[in-house]
Amino acid sequence: MLFTDLGLRAEILRAIADQGYDTPTPIQAQAIPAVLAGRDLMAAAQTGTGKTAGFTLPILQLISSRPAASHARPRVLVLTPTRELAAQVEESVRTYGRHLSLKSAVIFGGVGMSPQIKALKSGVDILVATPGRLLDHLGQRNADLSGVEILVLDEADRMLDMGFLPDMRKLFALIPKSRQTLLFSATFSEEIRTLAATLMHNPQSVEV
Ligand code: AMP
Repeated sequence: MLFTDLGLRAEILRAIADQGYDTPTPIQAQAIPAVLAGRDLMAAAQTGTGKTAGFTLPILQLISSRPAASHARPRVLVLTPTRELAAQVEESVRTYGRHLSLKSAVIFGGVGMSPQIKALKSGVDILVATPGRLLDHLGQRNADLSGVEILVLDEADRMLDMGFLPDMRKLFALIPKSRQTLLFSATFSEEIRTLAATLMHNPQSVEV
């Protein structure tokens, strides 16, 4: 299978080719069609498997093909446990979205709020964030999650290990129920399965 077999638009295929990739990794070959079909997805995948492109590519396809209800509110929210992962994911969104006109931003703690507020106010389609700092912004009404169409939990097991569950629950309450939800985790512990059961509708499972 090649990336050109997946039904991705030309702008996205060009960005993939710019990276020198032509063949999807196993997780990508399974996740991309499921996400494009609108399914909720539970994927067991470690770093290094190509999981980031596995959700970024189909999300860019879906979002660029659907009319936006509003450009003032994020349409995609990716939650990550650490600032490093958040920055890495947003870099992938930029890389694969470089020939599209979507806007992304990254939000994490330990740095000043002002540049993040500026980015949020200027309009963001795809928001990548760590839970705590995102809640701070929501408390200050710097962001509005009521337009989120796709929610991604990246390294969900690490978010639970780091004690983010209460923050995550507060965030979930602010996101429309009618969204698509994608959950990536290195392991599927009992806790992860319980979380998935409360968040997802008939998810497709992918394991590599
Ligand atoms: P990740 O597991 O998302 O952290 O990705 C691991 C590395 O694999 C990153 O450096 C990606 O740029 C690279 N990568 C992602 N997809 C592919 C692919 N289809 N072929 C070769 N390398 C890839």
